[in-house]
Amino acid sequence: MPVQRLTLAASTPYATPYYVIRGESKGPHVMVVSGIHGNERASVAAAQQLANQFLTQHLKIRKGTLIIVPIVNQSAFRKNIRGVPDLNRTFPRKSGMAARHPLAGALYQLAKRYGLEWYLDLHEANGLSQVRASSLGQTLITNPGNRSIPQARRLIKDINRTISKKSHHFNLRLHELPGSSRTAAARLLKARAVTVETCWSLAKADRVRYQIYLVKGFLRKAGLL
Ligand SMILES: [Zn+2]
Repeated sequence: MPVQRLTLAASTPYATPYYVIRGESKGPHVMVVSGIHGNERASVAAAQQLANQFLTQHLKIRKGTLIIVPIVNQSAFRKNIRGVPDLNRTFPRKSGMAARHPLAGALYQLAKRYGLEWYLDLHEANGLSQVRASSLGQTLITNPGNRSIPQARRLIKDINRTISKKSHHFNLRLHELPGSSRTAAARLLKARAVTVETCWSLAKADRVRYQIYLVKGFLRKAGLL
C-alpha cells in the first residue's frame, strides 16, 4: 500500500503536507505530529526521517493506520521560532468548543476524523528532567489517568537502558495543559496521548535518535510495527 501525501489546511496560508500510511489489515489509528513549535528541530527531523522510511519502503505498517504531520507550523519553522501565538495553547479546551487558531482547528479535525488510539506530539525542551524535577527535557508527558501511562513507563525503562549517561535518562511527567494538542487528544478525543520532549542542549543526532526510538517504540506497542 503506497504512502499517501496529502495537505493539511489546504488553500490556506497554513497549508502543510502530511502522510497517511496504511497497514495490510485494519488496526489502531496512530497520529505523529511535530513542528507545532517551529524551533524544535530534532522532532521535525525525526518525523521527516520516519516518513521517508515509509516512503522508501524501508519500514512498513503491519496493521492499522499511521498519520504523520512532520511540520505543523510551516511559518514558525521557516523563521525557526516557537510561533506566535503559541499554537500549543490554541487547541479546543472543551468538547464543542472551537480551536482559537485555524491551524490548530485543522489539525484537531484531522485527528478527530481518524478516531485515534494514539496521539504522539514531538517537542523539545530546556534542561534535563533527571537533574531538575521541573525540567521537561528528556521526558514523556501525558495527562493524569491517561491509558498510555503503563506503556510510557515501560518505554522509558527500555530507552534508558540504551543511554549510558544517567543524567540524560528520560522520566514520565503527568500534566494537564489546557489548550495543548495533547490535552485535547487525551480529554476530548479519548486517545492515548503522549508528548515526547528531548533536551535541546544535547547533540542533535542523539535527540533525533531518541525521538525515533520512542515513536517506533509506541508504534510497536500499538501493534503497527
Ligand atoms: Zn514544543
